[in-house]
Amino acid sequence: MTSSRTIVVAGAGIGGLTAALALAAKGFRVTVLEKAARLEEVGAGLQLSPNASRILISLGLAERLGPHVVTPRAVTIMTARSGGEVTRLSLTASARPDAPYWLAHRADLQAALLAEAQSRPEIDLRLGMPVENIEATASGVRIGGAEAGCLIGADGAWSVIRGKLFPHLQPQFSGLIAWRGTCDAASLPKEIRPSGVQLWMGPRAHLVVYPMSAGERINMVAIVPGAPLAPGWHTPGASDDINGHFSQARWPANARAMIAAIDNWGCWPLYTMPDGGAWHAGHVALLGDAAHAMVPFAAQGAGMAIEDAAVLAECLGATTDDRDVPAALARYATLRKPRVTRVQQTARRSGEIYHLRGPMALARDVTMRLLGPQRLQARQNWIYNWQL
Ligand SMILES: Cc1cc2nc3c(=O)[nH]c(=O)nc-3n(C[C@H](O)[C@H](O)[C@H](O)COP(=O)(O)OP(=O)(O)OC[C@H]3O[C@@H](n4cnc5c(N)ncnc54)[C@H](O)[C@@H]3O)c2cc1C
Repeated sequence: MTSSRTIVVAGAGIGGLTAALALAAKGFRVTVLEKAARLEEVGAGLQLSPNASRILISLGLAERLGPHVVTPRAVTIMTARSGGEVTRLSLTASARPDAPYWLAHRADLQAALLAEAQSRPEIDLRLGMPVENIEATASGVRIGGAEAGCLIGADGAWSVIRGKLFPHLQPQFSGLIAWRGTCDAASLPKEIRPSGVQLWMGPRAHLVVYPMSAGERINMVAIVPGAPLAPGWHTPGASDDINGHFSQARWPANARAMIAAIDNWGCWPLYTMPDGGAWHAGHVALLGDAAHAMVPFAAQGAGMAIEDAAVLAECLGATTDDRDVPAALARYATLRKPRVTRVQQTARRSGEIYHLRGPMALARDVTMRLLGPQRLQARQNWIYNWQL
């Protein structure tokens, strides 16, 4: 379709920039308003499974991002009980050239999305421009004096747009803190240096470790219980604190050696949105964490934001007039909610399983071994095989 209609996207995170590219590909003019004066992502990693990478590649990101990612062969599931491997899920079976499994540095993904957006004349990216007030008009929305046929709130878990539309919908603290840190791959002894994704399950905690930045850096996420920090903020983390959660009595030497190699810990309280909340009203829709922030245990928060962007562009691309926008946004929400809700639930359940203790942990490890890699892998297919 060709359209010169204007859409405003609030937020230039992964979801907002992907939406801008997908909408531009449908012929819309897109204005992206980002509150930050500079776009900076944390020094942490991101798993991009085939359902997400397929969309990024279709939007032309392969050349910019490809040289920086790692394409792992497997996810190895480890148990803190023995320090050994429970099972190994191949990632080569579900991945294809047009839909690989990628391990990326967040800054590399954001830089690739930004460069691609800046190369498109249809996209006008404005930094240091927070969206604060929105007003409904007869045929769209007025944002800071300018009018548009549609506003997309891709402004993250603490979304201002959501606060205006649905003030009763607020993120809830999950009771868990994500510690994130990185180190040079070369700083880890070869015997414990991961070549793919390693997931460590332990008592009331788990670890995810993988290479990124073309294999030069290692990313680590440690999930532990904790008290909420101020909403929306993260703080530096002290090594002594994290070591307390991964004590010698409960965690094996190989996992502890990886933890000890990290020297730049930061702590993020994990807040989530309730499943199936409201996502649209009139000419305004929410996307990504603004609509459905989730615990990251299925590694799908960004993946769902990327899928949202593609579906939203498809729905809006089918309209010919701004008067059709509310129905298109309703269709977008109807198409997305069942899948996203299932992913939110899967992520929560995974966390509960990873954190089991005592005899329950033993039963989990035995069950996983009995099920075997093929059957465990098949349980991921509904996530990875999704296509527009
Ligand atoms: C520890 C951890 C590990 C994770 N691992 C993975 C993983 O492996 N794979 C995966 O898919 N997901 C993962 N996620 C989830 C993923 O990081 C998020 O789901 C994703 O970044 C959300 O993107 P977004 O664009 O919706 O929001 P955000 O990234 O929060 O972007 C929102 C943007 O909006 C801007 N903004 C805010 N308010 C305004 C305003 N009023 N006006 C204008 N701009 C505004 C912000 O500055 C920001 O740039 C993980 C999350 C955590 C915490």
